Parts: sequence; structure tokens; C-alpha cells
Amino acid sequence: MDEQELKAAYGRLGIAPATYDYGARVLDGLRGRFADIDRTAEYNQAKVLDAMRRNRVSAAHFAATTGYGYNDDGRDTLERVYADVFRTEAALVRPQITCGTHALTVALSANLLPGDELLSPVGAPYDTLEEVIGIRDSRCSLKEYGVSYAQANLNPDGTFNYPAIRAAIGERTKLITIQRSKGYDTRPSFSVAQIGELITFCRSVKPDVKIMVDNCYGEFVEPLEPSDVGADMVVGSLIKNPGGGLAPIGGYICGTAECVERCAYRLSAPGLGQEVGANLGLMPAFYQGLFLAPTVTAGALKGAVFAASLYEPLGFRCVPAAAEPRHDIIQAVTLGSAAAMSAFCAGIQSAAPVDSYVTPVPGDMPGYDAPVIMAAGAFVQGSSIELSADGPMRPPYAVYFQGGLTWYHAKTGILLSLQKLLDAGLAQLP
Ligand SMILES: *Cc1c(COP(=O)(O)O)cnc(C)c1O
Repeated sequence: MDEQELKAAYGRLGIAPATYDYGARVLDGLRGRFADIDRTAEYNQAKVLDAMRRNRVSAAHFAATTGYGYNDDGRDTLERVYADVFRTEAALVRPQITCGTHALTVALSANLLPGDELLSPVGAPYDTLEEVIGIRDSRCSLKEYGVSYAQANLNPDGTFNYPAIRAAIGERTKLITIQRSKGYDTRPSFSVAQIGELITFCRSVKPDVKIMVDNCYGEFVEPLEPSDVGADMVVGSLIKNPGGGLAPIGGYICGTAECVERCAYRLSAPGLGQEVGANLGLMPAFYQGLFLAPTVTAGALKGAVFAASLYEPLGFRCVPAAAEPRHDIIQAVTLGSAAAMSAFCAGIQSAAPVDSYVTPVPGDMPGYDAPVIMAAGAFVQGSSIELSADGPMRPPYAVYFQGGLTWYHAKTGILLSLQKLLDAGLAQLP
């Protein structure tokens, strides 16, 4: 098949030849970057495969269990596989963990007792955690249970403020939470090496402090995970990177046996812990999703790098910038106007395999002071390892976009977003 046929196929999806050609020129400059991403995926594929082989995963592990789920060998083996992949003593990987926020809530509330203090040395946590912690008042928050919260903000350039962190670690500081990805913030995301330095520093101030990393969006982006550099717990969602797009629900907590056992007691009940929790037939999706996760994550990363490299030369500010290294799969593109945000999201939506025919419109969302626009046409509701984009409709009019189960789908969505901007006269090819 020649280039013309490929271009014609993209044409049928609504991408004009000039847009395709611009994309092709951008891609020519990304060969080295893509090779690096592929090398990381290859390493992580070997890591996952090794864990599955060592734990002798077999077809018997895919059987569904119901009720209490006693003696669920598929579930227990999957947890050993996760523990090996993240190089931890133990893991809790369950469909009963409903989302990332739930996994983080379990990890925090299991390991903090009344009178303890939680510290974030990296500024404000992800939006949904504000009510969990009690930064915004909520029933059942940690604050309501007598757990206090302290925060050390980052330096203006996004680096760790070590003197402030040292001052914030006190006698009651029991657990330190580090968010790897910037999420929907404007700070940089942290590399595993940076997280390692921060952990070493915190332990030098208080050797017995427990350290948890919110690992959402970061899994398999680098060869190492935060648990390789000293975290007691790493926590995330299965409808992001580690579910590989196949897990329809779930969360994970990998860490020390002591921390994970407490999490299991919190999730089910004291005394029951990991012994209960039927797998409900989800084991094939969990195993196969984890097996595919390194490649799926690589596709999403290529999409993020491609988007920044495509938009930056057109005058749109990108965070991270095109040339910057990646520590998660999120790409922010500052579009500068509400009309441009709508056009961008319309392009992403029209590229979706599901609900391609709908037009995203901004709507009010709890916790946001401006209407939020979202583009998502996913097989799994709300899955953000699938191609998706969203952002609040207010200055600087930035969309956060992430995912793509395959690189080709991410490429199509990004080119279509640009096509919509070009069609509306909101961008011009160089
Ligand atoms: C997505 C995310 C969460 C919360 O996950 P949900 O599944 O949406 O509840 C927490 N922290 C970070 C950094 C995230 O990206």
C-alpha cells in the first residue's frame, strides 16, 4: 500500500491532505522519541511477562467466582503478579475498588488513625481528594475522623521546597502522599527519580514515616515505578494505564505487606481482609489488560508527544512542551478561546469508535467554577486510557487530553482536532 492510499483512508475520516502532510512532517522529526517510548514498552512488557510466568498464570485463573469468593486462586495470583510487577511484598487488586479516588481513600484511611497527620509535600492534591482529606468539608472525611492535613507547596519553578517540607514533617506526621502526575494542575509531573529523591529526603527527616504515591496515569511510562525507589504504597485506577483498556472497573494498591493488609481490612472488614471478594468473571480482562498495558501506554505517550509537536509550532502553548521528557500520559494544549476548545473536542469526539456522531457541549460539573467540556467515546465509561479530552471553559482555555488504545487512533483523533480548528479558521498550517 502506498502513501496515497493511506492518505485517502484518512481523507475518508475527514482529514484533508494538507493536514495529513503536516502531520507526516511532524512525525518525521519524532522517530527518535518514538524509539525511546518503544524501548520502555519493551522493557515493561518483559517485566509483566516475567511476573506472569513466575506466578504460573494458567487458564484456571480466569474462572469466575461469586459470593464470598473464598479460595479465589485467580484473584490471589493476579495480586501476586501485580506485586511482582511493582516489586512490592503485597498487592490488593480488586473490582470492589470502584475508581482511583476509592483506591486512594482506602489506602489513606487504612493507614491513618485519629491524631495522625497526613502531609502532601507537592502542593494541593487531585480535586477529588479534597473532600476525602477534608480540605473541603465532607461527611466521612479524614478530618472528621480526627486526621489532620498539612501541605508544603512546590517552589514557583515546580521543584520541591525542601526547607518547607522539613518544617512540615512533625511528630504527628504519619503518612506522606506524593502525587506523581500533575493531573489537571499546571505544575510539572514528577519522574520516578525525582520521587525517589523526595522519598529519601523525607526518610532522612523521619525514618519511620509511611510514604504513598498516587500513581494514576504514570504506570509503565518509565522502566521504574515509585515502589522501586522506596514508596510504601503505590495506588492507581484500572481504567487508566494498568488496565490496558480492557479492565471495566477496578483499582490497585501495591506495597508493603503491613500497609496492604491494613488496606484489605479497610476495604472489606477487619479479620476478613483479602480472603473475601469475588472476582465476578473479571479475571480475563484484568490479566489481559495488564499484559497489554505497556503497549497501550506507549501508544498514549506517542499521542501526547505528537500532539505537542503538532500544536506547538502553530503557536499553542503545550504542557509538557514538545521536547520535554514524559512522566505521565496527560498533554495540556492551551487553545486561547472557548471556540477553539469546542473545535478541538469536536475533533477528538468525531474520531471516537463509540458516540462519534455526538457534539460535545460544555456543562456544569461539581467542584468546578466554570462549565467543563469533555470529549469521550469510550468502550468503558469514563476510561481515560481511551482517547479523551476535557477542560474548564475559562482562561487560558486549555484542554487536557490523554489516552488512545492504539497509537493510530490517537494520531487520528489529534489530526481531526487540528482539522476542526483549521476548518473554523482558528489555526493555520505553517
Ligand atoms: C484520575 C486520578 C485520580 C482519581 O481517579 P478516579 O478514577 O477518577 O477517581 C487521582 N489522582 C490522579 C493524579 C488522577 O489522575
